[in-house]
Amino acid sequence: MKRLLVLVLLLTAGAMASAQFKLRPDAFPPEPEPLAVKAVTMAADVSQMAQWDRYPTYGTYVAMMQQWAADFPALCRLDTIGTSIQGRLILSLEIAGNLADTTLPEFFYSSTIHGDEVTGYVMMLRLIDTLLHGYGSNPFYTRLVNTTRICINPLANPDGTYRSGDNTVQGAQRYNANYVDLNRNYPNPFGSSPANLQQENAAMISYVGSHQFRLSANLHGGSEVMNYPWDCFTSAQNPHPKSAWWQEVCKRLVDTIHTYTGDHFNDVTSEGYIAGGDWYVITGGRQDYMNYYHNCLELTMEVSTTKLLGSSQLPVYWNFLQHSLVNYIDMIHHLNLVSVTSADPSMGTVEGGGLFGNGDTAVLVATAKSGYRFSHWSNGAADNPLLATVDEDTLNPRAVAVMSDTLFTAHFVPDTAVHSAICPVAESPKIYVRDGRVVVEADGWQQMDVYDAMGRQVTDAVLRRGVYFVKVGECPIRKVVVL
Ligand SMILES: [Zn+2]
Repeated sequence: MKRLLVLVLLLTAGAMASAQFKLRPDAFPPEPEPLAVKAVTMAADVSQMAQWDRYPTYGTYVAMMQQWAADFPALCRLDTIGTSIQGRLILSLEIAGNLADTTLPEFFYSSTIHGDEVTGYVMMLRLIDTLLHGYGSNPFYTRLVNTTRICINPLANPDGTYRSGDNTVQGAQRYNANYVDLNRNYPNPFGSSPANLQQENAAMISYVGSHQFRLSANLHGGSEVMNYPWDCFTSAQNPHPKSAWWQEVCKRLVDTIHTYTGDHFNDVTSEGYIAGGDWYVITGGRQDYMNYYHNCLELTMEVSTTKLLGSSQLPVYWNFLQHSLVNYIDMIHHLNLVSVTSADPSMGTVEGGGLFGNGDTAVLVATAKSGYRFSHWSNGAADNPLLATVDEDTLNPRAVAVMSDTLFTAHFVPDTAVHSAICPVAESPKIYVRDGRVVVEADGWQQMDVYDAMGRQVTDAVLRRGVYFVKVGECPIRKVVVL
């Protein structure tokens, strides 16, 4: 009886822990999926993929990639990243309106480094098909393809996916043929290369080294969440320098998904996104490798809680994922986050922040509430308040050329209008007029502004006869009379 009681307590403790945080599917050892029989239908040839409700056999996959390259030679070309241990191809399709244009920013999608997480595999194939067939008719896809080199590797671990043979994804495994988790096998930030670097990853490292990817994502399954870097640190230990940008991007991606479904992307956090290390710290992941070693912003997209969906479910997932998959590519043109905030929201509000490309113009507008007026801006790095400076720019609205993530704070002050009632006499500083000049006796230097009775700023050293209003620093405005 006593033993039983202990067991019950342990089970309760375990349930409480898992209620707080769902176990990361990347955890080792992985959570096995229940062996429920799923309706997994395979496409034995390209034509059977027409409804996108099947998984391709390995042969169908290779044929699809080759078919696109043959059908759209002006828009795409097939590249071989390398081969797996068992000799299967690791392929990438490169898509661009002008393939010869080497100035296009380079984007990279890669899926299914864990061979049993196959939803992303089919999503990537359908994305290729959508971009190629939408080019010329869909203005958004056309613009994306014309302005971006989009490289898509639908299957990073073919031996894991086709462990049971080339004709089925049933029995797929997470690992490669050496039973190594490829997403623990990349060089770690601040660390050394793994001793057993796998053939698939060596090929991928060589491939990404031959490109200049600026934005990328790798697709997984087992949860539904956008997992932004770092994976090897918690955000308290070492936040990613673009954490604020990541949060804004993830929020947009998840918000879009949630406009198409209410039942997804809420199993890890209600927001649908999280810093990877805050969920579960791992080392040797590809996301951190890309961010740290290639200065490429890579996101981990966990796109389906069920790793092996029944194949009839694939169009359902495409329906709610497709918009964010395309929108994420477009983020390569909006790599900077301008954040705006009010130093005191009770005094005024500010707008004009958002995501911008390099050199884009952000127009910041500060709006004072009744009884207050805009004073000035301060700015700083979005993630580092210590860098914030008073930049003394008092323009409003203010146009800013965006080149990095920046935080602008609008400051407001009480609007003691210079033409209003007589100001109260302050004890300090001492302000008076002598020989037509305003004299201020104050501790230390302070900014002094003088206004005439109409509220116009006066810069004359010697004032003509009349009533003037003097503002020293942030002190109350004082009236002086020149006789
Ligand atoms: Zn995974």
